[in-house]
Amino acid sequence: MSVMTPPGVKNSGDYIEDVMSVVKAKNAAEPEFHQAVQEVFDSLRLVLQKHPEYRSSKILERITEPERVIMFRVPWFDDQGNIQINRGFRIEMNSAIGPYKGGLRFHPSVNLGILKFLAFEQVFKNSLTTLPMGGGKGGSDFDPKGKSDNEVMRFCQSFMTELSRHIGPDTDVPAGDIGVGGREIGFLFGQYKRLRNEFTGVLTGKGLSWGGSLIRPEATGYGCVYFAEEMLKSRKDSFAGKLCLVSGSGNVSQYTVEKLLDLGAKPLTFSDSDGVIYDPDGIDREKLAWVMELKNVRRGRIREYGEKFKKAIFMPTDIKLEHNPLWNIKADCAFPSATQNEIRGKDAANLINNGCKLVAEGANMPCTLEATKMFLEAKVLYGPAKAANAGGVATSGLEMAQNSARLSWTREEVDDRLHKIMIAIHKNCFETAEKYGTPGNLVNGANIGGFLKVANAMLDQGLV
Ligand code: NDP
Repeated sequence: MSVMTPPGVKNSGDYIEDVMSVVKAKNAAEPEFHQAVQEVFDSLRLVLQKHPEYRSSKILERITEPERVIMFRVPWFDDQGNIQINRGFRIEMNSAIGPYKGGLRFHPSVNLGILKFLAFEQVFKNSLTTLPMGGGKGGSDFDPKGKSDNEVMRFCQSFMTELSRHIGPDTDVPAGDIGVGGREIGFLFGQYKRLRNEFTGVLTGKGLSWGGSLIRPEATGYGCVYFAEEMLKSRKDSFAGKLCLVSGSGNVSQYTVEKLLDLGAKPLTFSDSDGVIYDPDGIDREKLAWVMELKNVRRGRIREYGEKFKKAIFMPTDIKLEHNPLWNIKADCAFPSATQNEIRGKDAANLINNGCKLVAEGANMPCTLEATKMFLEAKVLYGPAKAANAGGVATSGLEMAQNSARLSWTREEVDDRLHKIMIAIHKNCFETAEKYGTPGNLVNGANIGGFLKVANAMLDQGLV
């Protein structure tokens, strides 16, 4: 309790801890959701002192409670004619500044808590993009790995049969995420159109000939590198000659590597859940094209890279280790682009000890709270996910704008808008961090910048 706080009134620190305890009690067994909320709340201490109205209107209590959670059965037939049952979800978290917007994840690890953490993050991320989009997230514990195209199609059709009741171009507009790429969006869109008999921009990440936007596949990776370039510029530095570590080998990782090559950096790694490849010669455009074919067409495993390119080393994942060998390779910059909590305390220590200058999060919440704290304390340039990877959803917003206007912009036009949005997000985070007394802390900048717009809209709209 601060000496400035009147008797009987808790200070904002105690208030935040009280709300956090309630969030944990009400959402038991959802550790990822607690982690995402804790990180935002830690940044909001400074805001609540200046703005008592957020507290009296219970904005923290309201913003952590999803507006709607939909959970449903997804039955489908596999190729052998067996019945399979998965669980489907859509979390409609917050619509204060626009229709719910956020990806669908198909991965066996998907559960309610993981999707709530992603939906919560999405609210602030979408606010930062400057576009009118609320936050949502969804998906299923379905594992597309090893399934035939027909099985994926039957699953997607069953999933959309239920989801179609809840979404719409002005209500909720899903997109892709882990395990949901162009193929899955195609099957989902086809089924929605068939059920509703309408051709609308109900999903983003669509194919180019049926309402998609140029640059959407590239947008998260490109945007993350544009954001990181601004971070480097703030220290009068650039990507020329920088050694870069990239994890994952999916959509975000591939286009991160492509943009790093455009800017003169030298990417060294890719990974998947089986292990890591380290190519000391660097991943050039030819090798990147090979990886894209491996992952997007043949749907193979990254270990094959080590067989194809002899100087590359493959290190299998060892779940017994407390660290990932990928983050112990000497490099200047790190782009975690696979999944949540993939950089733990030991990994952060390895990166810092090896002289890493920049971490930009392509994946959502890839660093544990401990790792984040270590980067901030070591003054590593640290770009949090809700800012650094916002280029994906920003370009989804541009796809929605093109769909509403029934026209298509050129590649250059979309890329230019994406680039400007990433520069604006960095500026907002950088200036907000400074304004609230923590210069250079882009975590605070992103959390506070994202929060203010949504919180003010919630105040304007009354108790809904
Ligand atoms: P993809 O499915 O295209 O690729 C995911 C990659 O990460 C694969 O290489 C996958 O390996 C690996 N991976 C996934 N889960 C795990 C795990 N539990 N352990 C180890 N490796 C894993 O997904 P995206 O590239 O689209 O997404 C990657 C990250 O970026 C996610 O955190 C996502 O939320 C985030 N993101 C994506 C956006 C987008 O536009 N696509 C937008 C903003 C954020 P394997 O094949 O072995 O599973």
